[in-house]
Amino acid sequence: MLKEVLTQIERRNRFLLTSHARPDGDAIGSALACCQILRSMGKEAEVVLSDAVPRIYQSLPFADKVVRSERVNGEYDAAIILECDSIQRTRLEGLENQFVINIDHHLSGRPFGDVNWIDPKAVATAEMVYRMAREAGINVSPEIATCLYTGVLTDTGSFVFDGTNERTFALARELVLSGADPAKCARNVYFGHSTAKMRLLGAALSHLEREGSLAWFWVTQEEMERFHAKEEDCEGLVNYALSIHDVQVAILLREIPDGRIRASLRSKGEVNVAKVAERFGGGGHECASGCSLDGPLQDSLSRILALLRPSESIQ
Ligand code: 5GP
Repeated sequence: MLKEVLTQIERRNRFLLTSHARPDGDAIGSALACCQILRSMGKEAEVVLSDAVPRIYQSLPFADKVVRSERVNGEYDAAIILECDSIQRTRLEGLENQFVINIDHHLSGRPFGDVNWIDPKAVATAEMVYRMAREAGINVSPEIATCLYTGVLTDTGSFVFDGTNERTFALARELVLSGADPAKCARNVYFGHSTAKMRLLGAALSHLEREGSLAWFWVTQEEMERFHAKEEDCEGLVNYALSIHDVQVAILLREIPDGRIRASLRSKGEVNVAKVAERFGGGGHECASGCSLDGPLQDSLSRILALLRPSESIQ
């Protein structure tokens, strides 16, 4: 399928690159790297996202060139959608009329494009973009390597999630040899947080509840407003509950302004949380998934817990 992706790219000139709303490190890193690869191939390309680049990724090469828009403006020969398991998750209007190349590694990935390269075995979409560069014979510059390394670093949870294996480290090695600076990438991602995020973490942890191997907590819209927190400040909070020694599944719930609830689910591996998120129209990976539910918060929580309690487990 990689060959087909390259064939279709070769036939075209102007590309829009995008990823999911509320972009994470793999979304941003893969899109920025892919954009540079296309330009090295002599194509015109730009990254368009429906949300702003989160602060911890703003120092990535060319992150300042990302166009923020909720609809496709301009003339393109194709759209490349990376790290996104449905067109809707881009929250970008107008993609339906484009020739779509879909490059994704989600277990819940769907063949929604005209060309679909979906590889759930890849630890990050960045791994697939790296393969694409190599197959196309493109030199992986330090800038491309930095974007891809950040995608791999973040989507493997700093090389700790299931699926991280010798290929992951071989890939990381190649990216470092190409010019990615691991300490600098890690510093930007892990030591670049806002004060609001730390206050939010404190509030979330004060709500921590436990039952068996489950842990859950939440942040309210009132807390978001009180701390002047942004959506991106919620990123990664759920991992603090998962870090408890006897927790197998952690859930973070967040009230959003329209009254709905965003859920982030994480697993240490015994429970497939993608299956839980899919029941509510979401998706993700076996160990990291998300979905949106109707509020109020305690009702959403009950619905999720009902699927995770041992007696009613969907496993
Ligand atoms: P997070 O909890 O960080 O928002 O998401 C964890 C994983 O689940 C990510 O891989 C993300 O792409 C996926 N995910 C989160 N929310 C949704 C959703 O609403 N729909 C789908 N299909 N995937 C989601």
